[in-house]
Amino acid sequence: MSDCIFCKIVSKEIPPDIVYENEMVMAFLDNNPISLGHVLIVPKKHYENIYDISEDYLKELIAVAKKISLVYRKVFEISDLNLIHNAGKNGQQVVFHFHLHLIPRKEGDGVDFDNKKFPELREKYDEFIEKIKDSGIV
Ligand code: AMP
Ligand code: ZN
Repeated sequence: MSDCIFCKIVSKEIPPDIVYENEMVMAFLDNNPISLGHVLIVPKKHYENIYDISEDYLKELIAVAKKISLVYRKVFEISDLNLIHNAGKNGQQVVFHFHLHLIPRKEGDGVDFDNKKFPELREKYDEFIEKIKDSGIV
């Protein structure tokens, strides 16, 4: 897509800080990182998010995430991380070209994804699961 910033990065019209690339995937450092090594793993073909990406690309993206995790552990002794995909406006997706955030974590790094929890939502679980079964999709 011509107006997509990540398509411009993939084509190197905007020069990326590349951590890894192959025919299908590029992984480059986030230009506003949460921690050192915060990397975005993207398909070289434009997909918006989890809803439209092909399973082949998704599998390759996850395989690359694993590869980078192992490299980080070996080279930088980073053994903890978050792997995040934001989808849609309310999912806080800002760039609408599929990406996985791989965010290295360590003790006392000040990063906090410890959100408020709502245990009372368990009351709705039976109905929730029933609706999924009724959909016939899974
Ligand atoms: P999201 O909220 O999941 O859509 O996150 C988009 C991410 O892309 C943010 O973490 C941004 O810092 C990052 N980002 C945006 N533009 C660039 C760029 N030109 N190079 C590297 N990372 C970028
Ligand atoms: Zn794109």
